[in-house]
Amino acid sequence: MSTADVSPSTIPVTKSPLALDWRELADRVLDGHSLTREEGLAILNADDAEVLSLLDAAWRIRHQHFGKDVQLYYLKNAQSGLCPEDCGYCSQNVKSTAEIDKYKLLDEDQILAGAKQAYESQARTYCIVTSGRGPTDKDIDHLSGVVRKIKDEYGLHICCCLGLLEDDHAKKLAEAGVDRVNHNLNTSRNYYEEICTTHTFDDRMNTLKAVRDSGMELCCGIIAGMGEESGDIVDVALQLAEMKVESIPVNFLNAIAGTQLEGLKVLSPQLCLKVLCLFRMANPATEIRIAGGREVNLRSMQAMGLYAANSLFVSDYLTTAGQSADDDFRMIEDLGFRIVAGDHGSQELYEGRRPESSCGTQDCSGKTCEVSSAQ
Ligand code: SF4
Repeated sequence: MSTADVSPSTIPVTKSPLALDWRELADRVLDGHSLTREEGLAILNADDAEVLSLLDAAWRIRHQHFGKDVQLYYLKNAQSGLCPEDCGYCSQNVKSTAEIDKYKLLDEDQILAGAKQAYESQARTYCIVTSGRGPTDKDIDHLSGVVRKIKDEYGLHICCCLGLLEDDHAKKLAEAGVDRVNHNLNTSRNYYEEICTTHTFDDRMNTLKAVRDSGMELCCGIIAGMGEESGDIVDVALQLAEMKVESIPVNFLNAIAGTQLEGLKVLSPQLCLKVLCLFRMANPATEIRIAGGREVNLRSMQAMGLYAANSLFVSDYLTTAGQSADDDFRMIEDLGFRIVAGDHGSQELYEGRRPESSCGTQDCSGKTCEVSSAQ
């Protein structure tokens, strides 16, 4: 884990004149109200003393849609480094001097071996993540062939994160059986060129449109803390609501040494919690995942984030280390929440470490325990 400077940076505030009753706002959201930009700004600009009230409001919504479930995901890079793009936050970017593993796209046997493991550990989803601007025609043919075999043999849910996609690439992936594509907005249209010059916000939007048009689900999120204003964060939250994405990873910048954003300070834990509340209020029924950078930004308040979010990446990220899986499982159990292992790696990690049934009457296996809930 990074030893980033823990004195928090502040996000320049885009002012909002609103003072709101957070519970009343949550109830309106549950009744179908769509969060406005002013309301979003009011959440981010709220006094730190209001964080508990905000979390209480976000929890009302989160609990209504997801109960106490925490869905876990695990990242595995199928191709690492070697990227020609210059996304300033990413250790795999062309200008980065960060020391990371670099390897080309895994072959069919390696990807199939991962799928077999996923199947045998009763995972629901198998994720294929690659670095790079986007896949070549050859990569798409290779991956489509492997996905077909995985679907035939194991019937797993497949999520791909492959960079920018052309319409015909998205169509081929959908035809092969890919269920979901991850492609983050990362920041607002207004701020995009501050973090990347080799592709545009519209390139990202075009990829998201291609994915949607092909019928696949969208996983699309943000990285907060890259020097943007609070209005940029609100704009992403509202844009994702408009696009009705199925899943939102909320990353907080972990400024990696050797990247262009090296030296940016972490956000305060209170601000991170407000960001999570904002995304929950704007996207009430969407899976919201606390993603990269949670350990260095939320620190001792990571658990509080799960009152707004309902999902976590467990263990390490693509090129940085995360909190240990044991500590994540302990944190979720301490909250009294229920672990739902979502993908291959998370299932495997959880199966290896899940605690003994405390009542001694059954194997809990991460499922709702009828015995303990009746006690
Ligand atoms: S985020 Fe993706 S496209 Fe951007 S530099 Fe990193 S690997 Fe390349």
